[in-house]
Amino acid sequence: MTKMEVKTSLLDDMIGVGDMVLLEPLTEDSFIQNLKNRFDRDEIYTYIGSVVISINPYRSLPIYTADKVEEYRNRNFYELSPHVYALADEAYRSLRDQDRDQCILITGESGAGKTEASKLVMSYVAAVCGKGAEVNKVKEQLLQSNPVLEAFGNAKTVRNDNSSRFGKYMDIEFDFKGDPLGGVISNYLLEKSRVVRQPRGERNFHIFYQLLSGASDDLLKKLMLERNFFKYNYLSLDCAVVNGLDDAANFRSVRNAMQIVGFMESEVHSVLELVAAVLKLGNIEFKSESRVDGFDESRVKDKNDLKEMCELLGIDQLILERAFSVRTVEAKQEKVSTTLNVAQAYYARDALAKNLYSRLFSWLVTRVNESIKAQTKAQKKVMGVLDIYGFEIFEDNSFEQFIINYCNEKLQQIFIELTLREEQEEYVREGIEWTNIEYFNNAMICDLIENNKNGILAMLDEECLRPGNVSDETFLDKLNTVCAKHQCFESCHSKNSKFLTDRSLPRNCFRIQHYAGKVLYRVEGFVDKNNNLLYRDLSQAMYKANHSLIKLLFPEGEPSKVNLKRPPTVGSQFKASVGTLMRNLQTKNPNYIRCIKPNDKKAARLFTEMLVCHQVRYLGLMENVRVRRAGYAFRQPYEPCLERYKMLCKQTWPQWRGPAREGVEVLLTSLQIPKEEFSYGHTKIFIRNPRTLFTLELKRKQC
Ligand code: ADP
Ligand code: MG
Repeated sequence: MTKMEVKTSLLDDMIGVGDMVLLEPLTEDSFIQNLKNRFDRDEIYTYIGSVVISINPYRSLPIYTADKVEEYRNRNFYELSPHVYALADEAYRSLRDQDRDQCILITGESGAGKTEASKLVMSYVAAVCGKGAEVNKVKEQLLQSNPVLEAFGNAKTVRNDNSSRFGKYMDIEFDFKGDPLGGVISNYLLEKSRVVRQPRGERNFHIFYQLLSGASDDLLKKLMLERNFFKYNYLSLDCAVVNGLDDAANFRSVRNAMQIVGFMESEVHSVLELVAAVLKLGNIEFKSESRVDGFDESRVKDKNDLKEMCELLGIDQLILERAFSVRTVEAKQEKVSTTLNVAQAYYARDALAKNLYSRLFSWLVTRVNESIKAQTKAQKKVMGVLDIYGFEIFEDNSFEQFIINYCNEKLQQIFIELTLREEQEEYVREGIEWTNIEYFNNAMICDLIENNKNGILAMLDEECLRPGNVSDETFLDKLNTVCAKHQCFESCHSKNSKFLTDRSLPRNCFRIQHYAGKVLYRVEGFVDKNNNLLYRDLSQAMYKANHSLIKLLFPEGEPSKVNLKRPPTVGSQFKASVGTLMRNLQTKNPNYIRCIKPNDKKAARLFTEMLVCHQVRYLGLMENVRVRRAGYAFRQPYEPCLERYKMLCKQTWPQWRGPAREGVEVLLTSLQIPKEEFSYGHTKIFIRNPRTLFTLELKRKQC
């Protein structure tokens, strides 16, 4: 099919086809063209049945007004043009009226519009649910938790000026009437390496720039900071100021949001002290000093930043200074001190900064949860909104991308399982004839990563926990022996890989064939990042601080806890929390928003077909339409169906006296709609083609 043909096809009206199920003929070309036609006319939403495809417009469209909310409120999904509000409304009504817990699963690559979509869903639900002062306070707190977490957990990246560097799942809880009670947020692994280093063209987390730009002179003085990004080693300098981002104004919004969420002024101040301390820490530099015994030991160069950091956090300067020169290891109840060289001191400094910041972030989430949690033990209905970092392929991919992509792999799996499983189970449950449809299953890739015995994460853990000479290279060696035969794995050693095309694969890398494309990972840092060890001298120095928040963040620094077991590795923790998340999602009714990025220039009105095509492929959208079309596009319980259309037939109007199912049969027969268009399930009527539904709707309007 050429594009010309698509353009002249009957269905190509002004704004294309709102539901891909209706697209004729269905090819990848016509699919993309339909998206483009709609996008060009500012129709950024398109359905595949109940799945919403959303294309990032990269400019604000007048489609999120209060009027729009009213328009979509309590309306049937297919009555109006596709919109994320329609999905939100459907999910909310199903929760409120049918007691079904919901989850909103938002996927797509970085910059595709996931976070915006999650906020649109939240604000829509907030607008339509409940009324009254108490309820409004709950809503306001739930909504204002977003700017707080974004300030600390988002950053400007090459792909997105407001990229989420953590995963977030938020349960919004409702009472039996559908009024909001509160919420619970879970966060997933913050990309903490960003605190100490940022790729070219990217920034550190927003809060650093917001604080330096937006704080009053007085506050800066209290925090011993200067209003100058260039003073701080941890802040990237090539893009400290981002077009369209007003850090100073955002700082005010964040402080306001923190207040609404319920942070006390003293808590906000403590948080900012920690942020300032991280900047100070980054400025501490080391020099080498020869000792009498011939060893080189690291010394703090200029002690001013160290001094100020210690003042901010109430830390004994001598203790911290010593922790940057000497490391104490406890073995068999004996304390052994080893000196740190300069490289080790920098390593220790950065490890401390990363730990400080990421623990602060987790604390913020806990603190927000304390404020927003429901004040009742009564039974709750739940709507979960999942907004997680999108699939990432960079030139240089490390442990962070590996974790992020693993998470996306799992989400894709859940999409595959739930859309197909739900669909197929429903046909069986309702006694409708059905033959299974083939689809690509990424279970194999998930297994490569998470298998308990020989998955990549398990092997990384094995290396991390193994005594002796462990390095990223020994980890890669292990992968090379264990995974060499896996179809989705490739390294310069692998011989059996199905897609071994590139023999020049660098020696320190491995490659995974993800559902969304091949990604080359550099092993450097994997072992270390997975271990996430912080020298005990440092955690003890933090614990001893005369600062309530910092003390709280380093509980393992308590001297009596010296013999604590080794903390779980980062990978195993992440795997466990993703596992819990997936099990949780499976108990809820899923609603999907599939976000697509139209170009990689962050530009409005630009639709790069190649790029969209790639996403359509890996998101499995074509299969999604095919499954929808092979089955029945729409289904509805008999009672509401009869209620809605009974006026179209003399026998059913104004009141049908028999069972609803028979009423629907009488109704459809009288309308002379072809028999093959319907199947009668045990409790629902199934309609094959959405056109039939539109016909019914049209007749109803003409009535
Ligand atoms: P993701 O979370 O998928 O990485 P975001 O939701 O942060 O992406 O979107 C990136 C940027 O794109 C936003 O900061 C915003 O400027 C723009 N954007 C996304 N969705 C919309 C939308 N529906 N309307 C207008 N702009 C949007
Ligand atoms: Mg995001």
